[in-house]
Amino acid sequence: MAQERVLTTPGHYAYIKISEGCNRRCAYCAIPIITGAHKSRPIEEIVDEVRGLVAKGVKEFQIIAQELTFYGVDLYKKQSIAQLVERISDIEGVEWIRLHYAYPTNFPYDLLRVMRERDNVCKYLDIALQHVSTKVLKKMHRNVTKEDTYALVERMREEVPGICLRTTMMVGFPGEGEKEFEELMDFVKWAKFDRLGAFAYCEEEGTFAAENYRDSISKKKKQERLDRLMEVQQRISTRLNEAKTGNVYKTVIDRVEGDYYIGRTEFDSPDVDTEVLIHVNEGELTIGNFYNVRITDATEFDLMGTVEK
Ligand code: SF4
Repeated sequence: MAQERVLTTPGHYAYIKISEGCNRRCAYCAIPIITGAHKSRPIEEIVDEVRGLVAKGVKEFQIIAQELTFYGVDLYKKQSIAQLVERISDIEGVEWIRLHYAYPTNFPYDLLRVMRERDNVCKYLDIALQHVSTKVLKKMHRNVTKEDTYALVERMREEVPGICLRTTMMVGFPGEGEKEFEELMDFVKWAKFDRLGAFAYCEEEGTFAAENYRDSISKKKKQERLDRLMEVQQRISTRLNEAKTGNVYKTVIDRVEGDYYIGRTEFDSPDVDTEVLIHVNEGELTIGNFYNVRITDATEFDLMGTVEK
């Protein structure tokens, strides 16, 4: 039976939580302490919810989990995110499926096949990598190395050409010396993430790191590293946005603000990513509808566009 959902988002997109909790034990993270072990929702229940929302006019689905690559291990004894996404993708009326919060260790590569083959699965992945230095990753209990991390990004780009990667990095974790920080800078320059959020390490009560490591890097040093990292990323994001000028993208219209319709391409999640601004003089557009938009200008955060007639 389809679940009744009251939408708090604009009517054309919705967030679908596919699991609660997390079985990983990243040393700095309090989420497993707060939310408990990973608990997947059954595929049929999620599919029913999506069907119900499609019937109400929802077209875009933001699939969210603390750790979506673990989906299904508890219920079906195997990673099942690819199967779940395929099932959702089969539902008529689902225009876009977008995935948030993947984990790099034991990444389920069949998900990349689904992303490549299905037009309604956005070529977009939000994968928090946190760091690249093997020494730091080990202290973070991430079960992944520098070599694994480079190889993962390379494979994602190979298997899903044009994939938009959003990641999060942490600076100033105990054990991050200048050498480890430079490794991170080199990686970010190499990977050229479409989007990157970063934050300075801060102890969370009850976590392994808070109880076992000394938070030895000064606030000033952490901020300095954060600024250096974000400066590099800013240049990358601006260049990547500028490279979109002249291209045409399927764009959904989210809202009107002043003289502009505000839209997003398949490479942009609501609230956190780039927006496409289309002047209202372009003609009347409908919120929640999709249009082919040619990008005419770009900044680090926004794209300007005109609707292809
Ligand atoms: S950082 Fe993410 S994967 Fe790691 S324990 Fe926290 S929620 Fe789980």
